[in-house]
Amino acid sequence: MTTRSDEDAARTLCSHMVPGPYPFESVLVLDDHLGPTDWLVRCSRCGAPCLLEMLDMAGSLRLYRTRLPEAGAVQGLIRDLERGSCDIRRAGEQARHFSLSSRALDRLILLDPGKQTLVRLLSMDPELRIPGASWRELDCDGQWIRMLTATPG
Ligand SMILES: [Zn+2]
Repeated sequence: MTTRSDEDAARTLCSHMVPGPYPFESVLVLDDHLGPTDWLVRCSRCGAPCLLEMLDMAGSLRLYRTRLPEAGAVQGLIRDLERGSCDIRRAGEQARHFSLSSRALDRLILLDPGKQTLVRLLSMDPELRIPGASWRELDCDGQWIRMLTATPG
């Protein structure tokens, strides 16, 4: 039986994802543009996986949607990595598989990759209609970062 708190927990980041030095370690960069754009990481404390998908960039800052990848997909990827059979083309397939099998989380993460810092966690207001498309189809002109960091919280 699934309790209400289990469901809530499954929709939020683990409690260790807080501002400061990166609280996660990189598992695999799935797409890259002068730094990770689609990025599978896991919590340094509890190992919880999280898929970061870039939504916007402004100066040194990058804003990411967060998704919880399906556990089997993560295990499959780690197995492939250990076998050394994960090349760039295959990583692209993995990225699509991850996005399809993962569950959107209710937080956005603002990173400063140059400083390896998690700058801010932002709640997703459903009324904002955050786009779900790949960063390659988005403007990435800083509009979301400006809008979301203009308000406290
Ligand atoms: Zn954690």
